[in-house]
Amino acid sequence: MSTPFHQLADRILAGAPATADDALSVLRADPAELMSLVAAAGRLRRAHFGNTVKVNYLVNLKSGLCQENCNYCSQALGSAAPVLKYSWLSPDEALDQAAAGISGGAGRVCLVASGRGPSGRDIGKVTEVVGALKERYPDVEVCACLGFLAEEQARALSDAGVDAYNHNINTAESHHAEIVQTHTYADRVDTVRTAQRVGLSPCSGLIAGLGETDEQLVEALLALRELDSDSIPVNFLMPFDGTPLAGTWELTPARCVQILATARFVCPDREVRIAGGREMHLRSLQSIALHVANSIFLGDYLTSEGQDAEADLAMIRDGGFVVLGSDEELAQRTDRPAIRRRGAGTDLLPNA
Ligand code: SF4
Repeated sequence: MSTPFHQLADRILAGAPATADDALSVLRADPAELMSLVAAAGRLRRAHFGNTVKVNYLVNLKSGLCQENCNYCSQALGSAAPVLKYSWLSPDEALDQAAAGISGGAGRVCLVASGRGPSGRDIGKVTEVVGALKERYPDVEVCACLGFLAEEQARALSDAGVDAYNHNINTAESHHAEIVQTHTYADRVDTVRTAQRVGLSPCSGLIAGLGETDEQLVEALLALRELDSDSIPVNFLMPFDGTPLAGTWELTPARCVQILATARFVCPDREVRIAGGREMHLRSLQSIALHVANSIFLGDYLTSEGQDAEADLAMIRDGGFVVLGSDEELAQRTDRPAIRRRGAGTDLLPNA
């Protein structure tokens, strides 16, 4: 049976991008159509990512003590949320943390520090950690998330081996002033573009459940497509006590799946990552959501606990997925290099 969502998937697979109206129809799907929506979004996911799940691991280098006032953030200026506060892990502590995630299967380590942006010394601390990480784990991708970045800082990170830079737009431009007043949406976009300019892979996503309208959620996703974000973390608001958004509870598990599906239809070939709030908001639909998204964080978040890493890995296996870069994933790859048996050393012409 060809449902409207499958027809939309057909159009997207044929190269026509989803429009704002398409995205709204996905976001507002009748809950009775949820599985049809997941099946259609899953076709896009499998076309670009097969049955792989990228596993990411967060290392919170510096926690709390931020001077910005992002209303959703437990680390913000004025937040009374009782989160851990500390100023910069030592390089050894950071490496130990990263090693724990890598041994659990993480293919990307995200080094995060709270604050408006790094100083020159902070960049030095991060590049030291990155150098040691890359030496020990050359195949692991490193993403940095340090706030607003000047071009020379971005270049220093890139030179040190950082692969990607995360800076979320968080919400639609038209909603941004409602959730933070100490910086602008344009400031955020500037940093994404700066990272992109020096060759860092841009990672930028959003937080759903901040009081935005459906149209604003779609606006944010279209903006991420326009920004050419390679990976798109989709966070679901965790309403920490002690923050201005405490008690805000706009999301249901089905709604979260619809949001992820909308991200998939708008950005079919981008890494869509289920990020903060996964366990709290998707609850028993987490494994269904993996048929739409292709990336998760393993274990804990910056200031909140996630489910056990073992439970995450079991969920991946139970759904018939494999961790990207794992032995199982490598074993199922069919694109093995063909050994040369022509040209030099043979009687055959090269490329015969
Ligand atoms: S989101 Fe980042 S910049 Fe905003 S308050 Fe939290 S740590 Fe600071």
